[in-house]
Amino acid sequence: MSMTASKPIDFQITHTSHATAPEKLARILANPGFGVHFTDHMVTIDWTVEKGWYDARVTPYGPLSLDPAASVLHYAQEIFEGLKAYRHADGSVWGFRVESNARRMQRSAHRLALPELPAADFVESIKHFVQADVAWVPSAPETSLYLRPFMISNENFLGVRAAKKAVYFVIGSPAGAYFSQGVAPVAIWVTQDFARAAYGGTGAAKCGGNYAASLLPQQEASAQGCSQVLFLDSQENKYIEELGGMNVFLVTRDHTLITPELTGSILEGITRDSIIALAKERGLKVIERKISIDEWRDGFASGDITEAFACGTAAVVTPIGALKGRDFTAGDINKPAGELTMSLRQALTDIQYGRAPDSHGWLTRLA
Ligand SMILES: *Cc1c(COP(=O)(O)O)cnc(C)c1O
Repeated sequence: MSMTASKPIDFQITHTSHATAPEKLARILANPGFGVHFTDHMVTIDWTVEKGWYDARVTPYGPLSLDPAASVLHYAQEIFEGLKAYRHADGSVWGFRVESNARRMQRSAHRLALPELPAADFVESIKHFVQADVAWVPSAPETSLYLRPFMISNENFLGVRAAKKAVYFVIGSPAGAYFSQGVAPVAIWVTQDFARAAYGGTGAAKCGGNYAASLLPQQEASAQGCSQVLFLDSQENKYIEELGGMNVFLVTRDHTLITPELTGSILEGITRDSIIALAKERGLKVIERKISIDEWRDGFASGDITEAFACGTAAVVTPIGALKGRDFTAGDINKPAGELTMSLRQALTDIQYGRAPDSHGWLTRLA
């Protein structure tokens, strides 16, 4: 039997000769926003059917050159990940459950017929990236360097089949608070006209196409004065699934957490999984099951559902104050965020920022 495990890929590092000036960087990090400023470097790894993964490199950040026939531009063979680098009080920089992102990207790749990057190479790419741009990891509370690994097909061919050429990148962007209002409860809009994912579709893969499908309903939400859109299942238009980019939890009167079970059309959030683990450790009951929109609406009205929140890497945990649909409004946006919501949020961020012990082995030192 031969050893088939490939050896880790070597990275060539080329530092930029035009690093952002310290004063400008300080100005950016003082008010980073979300996803608007990009660091000085990027990671690129090429792939072809013949060669596999090759030519891993850290280079100065810059535009891509794509042939107009590049397959991604036509058939949307694209996947991505989202994770953060957190600066601890001693200046060290850490990633949270990086291996989980690596494995999820492999599952997304499989669904989109893209090549799977070995998990070890994914983790190395994150380390090399953060080490090149470590000055871009902010240190103010609740800030981080948001990392965006992504992969596109780039074979210049218009035939419809999986591309024989792909490329993986990592870029990064310093992040302040995701929601401009801070951690105040938000209102969400229940769309009944649109779905983001269907059974058997790509809902469980982190791919750009799912986001494209969520943008029109997101505009509808904004027009309704809501900050996010909630999607229902596409078959019955009845069971809650998730927001455009966040999973959802409800808290019942008896302090049980309920969250939609993973049906294949819901993205398996790493924050979702972490919240489930932290809640169970506290002795709370966590139930993954189907939850109808009626149950939530009526529960908000009767008090059977006492709290609701959305969760994901970018926004961590965001309380949901009110639920708005075509012919109803439930909840109260002006009520303060739920106690359990806020304490789970605190517990999670305490681990991420090194304020609480990492008893799960969730952190990886990046720099
Ligand atoms: C990324 C994402 C989430 C949250 O996943 P995390 O791993 O917690 O960041 C939830 N839903 C969708 C659709 C997503 O793309």
